[in-house]
Amino acid sequence: MPRRFPRAVLLVVAVLAMLVAPLVAAGATTTPAVRAAASAVEAELYADVLPDLRAEVTAATADDIDAYEITATLDSATGTIAGEERVAFVNRTAAALEEVWFRLFPNADYYGDGGLAVDALRVGSTEIAAELAVAETALRVALPEPVVPGATVEIALAFTTTVPADSIGSFGILNRDSVDGTWILADWYPIVAGYEEGTGWDLDPPTEFGDPTFAESALYEVILIAPSELRVVTSGSQVEEAPAEHGAVRRRYVAGPARDFTLVADDDYVAVSAEADGTTVTSYAEPEAAAAGQRALDVAVRALEVYGDRFGAYPFAELDLVQTRLDGALGVAWAGLLFLDGPELYGIVAAERPELFESVVAHEVGHQWWGGTVGTNTNDHAFMVEGLTNYLAITYLEWTAGEEAAARQLEGQVARVSHRLLAEYGDTVADVPTEAGQNPTQRAAALNRKAALRSLAIRHELSDDALPTSAPPSRPPPAGTWTSSGATGSRPPS
Ligand SMILES: [Zn+2]
Repeated sequence: MPRRFPRAVLLVVAVLAMLVAPLVAAGATTTPAVRAAASAVEAELYADVLPDLRAEVTAATADDIDAYEITATLDSATGTIAGEERVAFVNRTAAALEEVWFRLFPNADYYGDGGLAVDALRVGSTEIAAELAVAETALRVALPEPVVPGATVEIALAFTTTVPADSIGSFGILNRDSVDGTWILADWYPIVAGYEEGTGWDLDPPTEFGDPTFAESALYEVILIAPSELRVVTSGSQVEEAPAEHGAVRRRYVAGPARDFTLVADDDYVAVSAEADGTTVTSYAEPEAAAAGQRALDVAVRALEVYGDRFGAYPFAELDLVQTRLDGALGVAWAGLLFLDGPELYGIVAAERPELFESVVAHEVGHQWWGGTVGTNTNDHAFMVEGLTNYLAITYLEWTAGEEAAARQLEGQVARVSHRLLAEYGDTVADVPTEAGQNPTQRAAALNRKAALRSLAIRHELSDDALPTSAPPSRPPPAGTWTSSGATGSRPPS
């Protein structure tokens, strides 16, 4: 998950915000009562941020971040999630914008019967005709008047997302799994497209082996009406629950600053929780995989602690791990929510390859920092977060299990695979956009393995101490030694 402005752009935006803020304050006419009400709303929107960090995170982001309000109903009979969405879009760019683009990822052709239809599009009180592009995976919102830098425009729409049944498109991240009875809902709502200074809106065609979601951190308030028999797990924190019509339950959640609002719903998950530095970590698994769910919880708690010590605290009240049926990935990370594969990761990997199991869970936890808090364009520069996070999953083993365990994992999961890449395909450039027609195996090996060696090389440059003891093998291993186990499949965790 996973993604955004280069650091230089953030600095420019921060400086602009500092310049603009006094002007706004000077011209404001709000009364103390209005300001108090506004700050109360703001405080609630940040309720998923740990109390100790809430004031700091609010001060750093409140005037400079998009806010989504979504009310949606999950309908088992029609296989849809539908409702209304309002986005307060802040122009953080340096120029006035005449248009805002959204991505409609469920319209990607690899989702088959899935789709996302948009209706009743408005900017403020003005109705706007929806203009679709990039094979209906992008929605252009033409603004009635330009929105200047630092200003906010409110965009509202109605949407219906049809969730494909038993879909393996994009690792199965948008799917109604009929075997386990699970709704897996990533990329399910219209999301503001990524934007980069110089190149503008990011409208790359999504590919089914890529990580298309490239979105700015935002605040989310989501009301979800779902059948009462479903256990719902989401990004952020639940703040309200009440009965709804027809035996459904209405729940309200807040999340953010978050790059997405992702959810999973299942009829028979069992859950186990633990605390890590003030964060409640909960692992949800199918009853027969409860033991693997407990092990994933143990690793996630430890990873939050060791990464938090080194990279800065994970700032949110919750982190959820959910067993999902993935295809071609062992895990996929979202904001405060990790998809962990049922059949392979909680099956054969948990049983036979404990260090790989640990490193996959640690990798996905690592994305809460790299891809989550610190974002990048995951379609165009996926190697940045994937290589780093994969390498840090090895250092997780080094920090918790010792150098030998880290060295085994480095050799087995990174060095050998990189050599195999060289032997089988020749060298390849990691930093190229993900596009249709590329070889997914070669692509994944470059992004996750070769790029991890880059992180190792940087560490060698920065510090020669305390490195994993194993050097990469001097020659490629015999064919078939890395993917034949099926444990990693043709693609690594993403
Ligand atoms: Zn990853």
